[in-house]
Amino acid sequence: MPENMLKFIKVERAMPDKRDAKARTSDFDEIYGDYSQQAAKDQASRCSQCGVPFCQQGCPLQNNIPDWLKLAAEDRLEEAYAVSSATNNMPEICGRICPQDRLCEGICTIEQSGHGTVTIGSVERYITDTAWEQGWVKPITPPRERTQSAGIIGAGPGGLAAAEQLRRKGYQVTVYDRYDRGGGLLVYGIPGFKLEKDVVERRIKRLEDSGIAFKFNCDVGKDISLNDIRDSHDTVLIATGVYKARDLKVPGIGADGVLPALDYLTVSNRVGFGDNLKAYTDGTMNSEGKRVVVIGGGDTAMDCVRTAVRQGAKSVTCLYRRDRANMPGSQREVANAEEEGVVFEWLSGPEAVLHTKANKVNGVRVRKMKLGRPDASGRQSPEKTDDTVDIKADMVIKALGFDPEDLPVLFNETALRVNRWGAVQVDFKTMETSLPGVYAAGDIVRGASLVVWAIVDGREAAEQMHLAMKAAAKQQKVAAQ
Ligand code: FAD
Ligand code: SF4
Ligand code: SF4
Repeated sequence: MPENMLKFIKVERAMPDKRDAKARTSDFDEIYGDYSQQAAKDQASRCSQCGVPFCQQGCPLQNNIPDWLKLAAEDRLEEAYAVSSATNNMPEICGRICPQDRLCEGICTIEQSGHGTVTIGSVERYITDTAWEQGWVKPITPPRERTQSAGIIGAGPGGLAAAEQLRRKGYQVTVYDRYDRGGGLLVYGIPGFKLEKDVVERRIKRLEDSGIAFKFNCDVGKDISLNDIRDSHDTVLIATGVYKARDLKVPGIGADGVLPALDYLTVSNRVGFGDNLKAYTDGTMNSEGKRVVVIGGGDTAMDCVRTAVRQGAKSVTCLYRRDRANMPGSQREVANAEEEGVVFEWLSGPEAVLHTKANKVNGVRVRKMKLGRPDASGRQSPEKTDDTVDIKADMVIKALGFDPEDLPVLFNETALRVNRWGAVQVDFKTMETSLPGVYAAGDIVRGASLVVWAIVDGREAAEQMHLAMKAAAKQQKVAAQ
């Protein structure tokens, strides 16, 4: 065993310093600071270099975690970056926003033995942030250029990972996106206090510098058809994510001041980029001075409550129909929200949105719940009690999850097969859809999921697209002989 590892008995687990709640709620900057080189080294050295590294099993990308921890503990950061970036297209982004407690860190052996997990995500972030600072992250220079091309619909993490993998092999790649910037939910969903935007922008710039073409403000199905994209490329990837907000069916839900979560977060993120938006300046999508109620218990709800705090809301309350132990959101984010002053009303479901005669929201009638039997997800089902309570509100944000848009209709392609929830169906061995030469990856296949899973899918789809293009090129060569 290397002498600079296995220090988990002597060295305590330590995350990078977290800014105190008062300081961090006055801006949208990330809440965690950076490790010093010594701190990163110390934390990496806690790893016990397990023969069977469970952490790697817990990582959807199967990252070679013990190897880059060892290299970091030996101050060999450039090599650590090379190992870490071999399996992950955006390690510093995953290091920031993966729910590590549910993935790599949750099953770390030393966590299981009661010593506190190795801070895998924070070390991963440190390694790649250092790589950017030192200029080790370079544009891609493929070993040879190929004439075949791929069209990728969607510049979120799934599409970007696929674009990078294909460009590495020398394919000509064009990414189409309806937004005006690349990154998908990395820029317009996830707030800056979890992921600062320049961290995403430098990734997009690197892909542009690598020869990948981006066509922004290009809504496929409206500005260009799927068929046109298929005609322009040898192979196509659909990585469009899921954007249809689930709605609540309660009286008063149509009142002014009731907002869908993603619209609210997108406006806030755009304002962070410096965009001048009427919806923000006229107060429609701005919580300043308001009593805000957010309905939902997932990560999107946590992002909304914490955004409202930063916008200067008078009060922020989160309603969730189950209890804390049964909520889907990350416990780390709930704790952060509580520190920042958010009030959680557990076992509370919305019964009605209350409003004035002019249809302006002024409260939420809340039905108190109790927990019954576990449902299909394993979590206990909420059951209504006889108690209700009214909570005052000037803004209500619905954060109840997302479903896929109707892609066969949007793309005018009825042969594109989707499942009963609207997710695109693929052959999981090839990632190919029911349309030959058209592949799919990320949330549009899995339903709302995680960034790291979108990267896994994007990489897998790119590999399959490469194999198909290689086979087609070979066939053409044979036919030409
Ligand atoms: P997306 O990121 O959604 O990207 C899809 C892209 O396709 C978008 O840029 C969109 O504009 C484009 N597009 C869609 N339709 C079209 C069209 N017709 N034509 C052209 N372009 C189109 N995951 C985590 O791991 N950690 C987190 O902390 C986390 N927080 C989240 C917070 C919020 C508020 C939300 C909503 C999600 C969060 N997620 C988080 C989930 C994560 O963001 C997604 O799982 C991930 O972004 C999915 O990647 P994707 O590439 O499949 O889709
Ligand atoms: Fe952990 Fe995510 Fe990094 Fe994998 S990609 S090691 S799950 S933080
Ligand atoms: Fe190191 Fe934990 Fe992974 Fe074991 S499970 S190799 S201790 S990070």
